[in-house]
Amino acid sequence: MINEIKAMVDNALVALSEARNTDEVEQVRWSFLGRAGRITNVLKQIGSLPQAERKPVGASANAARDRIQAAAEARIRELQEGRFARLAELEAIDVTFPAPPLDRGHIHVLNQVRSEVETILERLGYQVEEGPEIETDWYCFEALNLPKGHASRDLQETFFLAEDESIVLRTHTSSVQIRAMERLRTPPIFVIAPGRVYRRDNLDATHLPYFMQVEGLAVDEGLTVGDLKGTLLYLVQSLFGPERRVRMRPTYFPYTEPSFEFDTLCGRCGGAGCRSCGNQGWLETGGCGMVHPNVLRNGGVDPEKYTGFAWGFGIERMALLKYDVEDLRLFYENDLRFNEQF
Ligand SMILES: [Zn+2]
Repeated sequence: MINEIKAMVDNALVALSEARNTDEVEQVRWSFLGRAGRITNVLKQIGSLPQAERKPVGASANAARDRIQAAAEARIRELQEGRFARLAELEAIDVTFPAPPLDRGHIHVLNQVRSEVETILERLGYQVEEGPEIETDWYCFEALNLPKGHASRDLQETFFLAEDESIVLRTHTSSVQIRAMERLRTPPIFVIAPGRVYRRDNLDATHLPYFMQVEGLAVDEGLTVGDLKGTLLYLVQSLFGPERRVRMRPTYFPYTEPSFEFDTLCGRCGGAGCRSCGNQGWLETGGCGMVHPNVLRNGGVDPEKYTGFAWGFGIERMALLKYDVEDLRLFYENDLRFNEQF
């Protein structure tokens, strides 16, 4: 009997050493130590053995059980370590391998142009002034020499936020002019007001229901149209290059007198005329003029002592001129293939 037990142990040790995974180890262990296992059966039979054999056979069977148990556990540890070693080899990180490029966000093209405009004008001593997008009729129209019923209010399709039309989404950043004069009080006042404006325009390639504008306002003693033109020229040439000239054409705005539209020399044809500028040689850029005395007065500035000039343009328009973009909607579609170009 004791020899049989020894043979069982030898068989078990061989089977365990040949087991290729933990399942196979468990099968071997079960076949020897499980409820109907070979060693278990020996232990069950001990009671029926002659008295003299019970003790040595029992001791031998118990020792065999412990031996097989220990060998099975050792084999499982061995297999797991091997598995980890293989995994380590398979999944090891090769630190010398070039990393895949990470997508990084960057500032949107419109904000790039906006901050470029701010930087250029800050060099001339302008400071950035902010105003609310929800504005009262006074700041948006009335104080800018646009009384109720004035014909040119129809030019600006307004979003009204109150039934009595006293609260509006600002249609232009000119609404910041009066606020700036009220806050700064005494000229010289040199401010730029960049921000979003709203108009009831239908969305198409050249119109947006909201867009970004930059307003410039300068108030001081003795300012002239020459100062205005010099400022615009400096801005345009800083943005687009030294060959880009500026031209001013008379027009009408209620808040400036005289008033002008200003154009930038076409960068493609240098003024000769091309498809890009509609054969004009010039690209419409923005509006400007000398601040109307009524507007200065409404801002608390004495028009007998001071003069001022103001100008405004759309940031989208500037970005379009700078990068030759054909459709304004592209700026707001957030298509990464578009955005990533800038
Ligand atoms: Zn052209």
